[in-house]
Parts: sequence; structure tokens; C-alpha cells
Amino acid sequence: MSATPTEAFDVVIVGGAAVGSAAAYFLASDPGFRGRVLVLERDPSYRDSATARSAASIRHQFSTPGNIRLSMFGTRFLREAAERLAVDGEAPAIGFREGGYLFLASAAGLPVLQANHRTQRAEGADVALLSPAALASRFPWLATGDLAGGSLGLSGEGWLDAFALMQGLRRKAQSLGVVYRAVAASGLRREGRRVVGVELADGAFVAAGTVINAAGTGAAALARSAGIELPVRAKKRCVFHFRSPARLPGCPLVIDPSGLYFRPEGEGYICGIAPGPDEDPDSDDFEVPLAWWEDRLWPALAARVPGFEAARLLSAWAGHYDMNLLDHNLILGAHPALDGLLFANGFSGHGLQQAPAVGRALAELVVHGGFRTLDLAEFGWARVLEGRPLRELNVV
Ligand SMILES: Cc1cc2nc3c(=O)[nH]c(=O)nc-3n(C[C@H](O)[C@H](O)[C@H](O)COP(=O)(O)OP(=O)(O)OC[C@H]3O[C@@H](n4cnc5c(N)ncnc54)[C@H](O)[C@@H]3O)c2cc1C
Repeated sequence: MSATPTEAFDVVIVGGAAVGSAAAYFLASDPGFRGRVLVLERDPSYRDSATARSAASIRHQFSTPGNIRLSMFGTRFLREAAERLAVDGEAPAIGFREGGYLFLASAAGLPVLQANHRTQRAEGADVALLSPAALASRFPWLATGDLAGGSLGLSGEGWLDAFALMQGLRRKAQSLGVVYRAVAASGLRREGRRVVGVELADGAFVAAGTVINAAGTGAAALARSAGIELPVRAKKRCVFHFRSPARLPGCPLVIDPSGLYFRPEGEGYICGIAPGPDEDPDSDDFEVPLAWWEDRLWPALAARVPGFEAARLLSAWAGHYDMNLLDHNLILGAHPALDGLLFANGFSGHGLQQAPAVGRALAELVVHGGFRTLDLAEFGWARVLEGRPLRELNVV
């Protein structure tokens, strides 16, 4: 039995990183919302969160129209973040740099690149298809001999300081009255088909009108405590930071047909590569397979940019995608068997850029009971329960 008396909040958000804090910010700044919001965050250092360990990049080059719309709102938000998130005249320095993404394609990959390009243009994305000759002239440092084309984001895409964005959202939410508490949620309390609150690791219970599951890789365990099987698992992804004497003017975030990506970071670069399907188990460790640098990354980097022959590894880190096993896309909103619980999970490696739009959507679901700006119904539970994947082809 706990000695702590029961408290009650209108909304309790489990997980206070990018998505949880975006939801808190949009709720607290919604003029139609007068409720009290509590954010439960088990680790306020955010050391192991995906947000803190991400490659912190944003693109409009997806194959799913909904993902393009989510990121296009993300760009608008990032451009206005200093103004929106300022507290007492102090604005977060999120360092948004619109350096663009460049997706490269071999002959085999060209039809998909072209089909995605049509989808992206129809959504208003500022992207251009480039021939190998145009690629060589625009990026003389790039090896183009094996390429059939590329797709370049001309504006709106780039990278930022993810930690600064998250802290900016958190600080602004707090300034608007949101309460953050450093404690783990141990489970959800359910009465019939309603989630009525959250059990805390310190033995206390918090009653909630609505609970939002923004627990990243902790989301499946939280859902299971309410009897719901969320098809989201933690999958390790590693980022390698390197230096090179090569000068790459105008270097965007480059996605190579081999699965390699790289982009500028400070004075150097970061890069990574997706593991093969047979070497991607569920994971909760943070060990980096350092041999990948020598065996996979360096050769692939030097093949695409000959100047990277002299690259030198500086450091590396691991983090975890909250991978949606069905279709690599977000699961957003209520489960049809439960009231009082909203999900925002399964971002599968593109959740940082989606956090502003998803935070806004969650606030709309709480305040209005439905979407008001972007209709995100296609990301709901229906497709999961019916086994009808909304498959995203451009997973990095
Ligand atoms: C290596 C890597 C590279 C990435 N690159 C990009 C990129 O370039 N662009 C992009 O858009 N996305 C990228 N992502 C994905 C992106 O980082 C995530 O999708 C996004 O940060 C998810 O945010 P979140 O708030 O949902 O989850 P998280 O950041 O994981 O936060 C979840 C929070 O919930 C807390 N929590 C969990 N369980 C509990 C509990 N029971 N009680 C209390 N608190 C709890 C955790 O402590 C954590 O702080 C990358 C991810 C990784 C790992």
C-alpha cells in the first residue's frame, strides 16, 4: 500500500522526450484547453532516449503522403521554433540547418525514386530529380559512375540539435503550467474498457482523464500492462562520427543505394548503415559494433566520395528505434477496445521530425476528440488490427 495520496490530472503523458514534450507543449498552448497536464519521465537526463541519440535530421522525401505532410509541418515548426518556444525572451538554439537530403539511385532503384518524386511533388515538397551529369556538376566530390539519378531536397530538409529542441519544448510546456515528474510509470490501471490512471514505480497512483503513451521503446511494456499488444520493438542503430580532410561544399545528407548515409556534423561528419534483416534482433544494449567502421562504412564512404579515403573515426554511439514491425510507421490515437488512452509510438527512425505534428495531433484528439489540422487517421490502430500495412519505402 502506498502512503502517497492519489492525485488527479486531466492528461498524464508517459515519456517526456520529443514526442511527450511536444504533446505537452501543444496541449498547454491550446486556447481551448484548461486542464492540468502531468508528464512522467523516468530519466530526466534523457541519456538513453532515442531523441538524445538520434541523427536529428528531417526530410520530406518519404513514399507515404502522410509522412511527407507530417515532416512538412515539422519544417514549419522548426523555422518558427525560436519564436514559439521562447521563455522570458530566451529562445532555444535548435541550430536548424536546411542542408537538404540527397537520395541516390542505381538503375534498379530509379523507378522507385521517380515514383516517390511524383508523390512528394504532389504534396508540395521542394525536391528535384537530378541526372548523373547534373549530380556530377553540382557535387564534384561525388562518384557518380554507377548511378542512374538522384533526388535532392532544395529547401525544408536538413538537421538540427535534437536535444535543444526537446529541452525547448519541455521548458516552454513547463512555463505554461505543465508539471514534469522524474519517476517511471510501472503500469496502467484499467477499469473495464477504460484506462483510469497510471501506477508509479514509487508506489503512488495518478488518476487521469486521458493517458498518452509517449514512452518510445518503453511503449510496448506500458501497453501490455493494459492488455494491449503493441507491435513495437527496440532495434539498435549506430551513428559513427568521423573527420576527413576532404572538403565537400554544399554536402547534403546523402543516402546511398548501399544503405549508407552521411551528413556534415560540426567540423566533421556522421554516418550510419542499416543492419541486414538477419542481424537486427530486438535489443536493449548500447554496444557499438566498431568493426563496422572498418568493414562496411569506410569502404562504402570511400566508394561514394573518394576524398573519404582519408577519413578517421572519432567516436560512435548506439540508440534504439521504436520499430513498428508491421509497416515502419507511426501508430497514433486510441485503440478501439480502450477509452482514455492515446498512443504515439512505433516511429521507426523518423519520430524526431514528426514530433511537432504528432504533438499537435495528440492535443487535437484530447481537446476536440478528433483531428483538426492534418487528418492522420491512416496512422491509427485500424490498419494494425486488420494486418493492412501502410508501408513506408524510404526507411533510413
Ligand atoms: C540512432 C538513431 C538515429 C535517428 N535518427 C533520426 C533522424 O535523423 N530523424 C528523425 O526524425 N528521427 C530519428 N530517429 C528516431 C527518433 O529519435 C525517435 O523516433 C524519436 O526521438 C522518438 O521520440 P519519443 O519521444 O517517442 O521517444 P524517446 O526519445 O525514446 O523518449 C521516450 C521517453 O520515455 C521515457 N520512458 C519510457 N518508458 C517510461 C516509463 N515507463 N515511465 C516513464 N518514462 C518512460 C524514456 O526515459 C524516454 O525519455 C533516430 C533514432 C535513433 C536511435
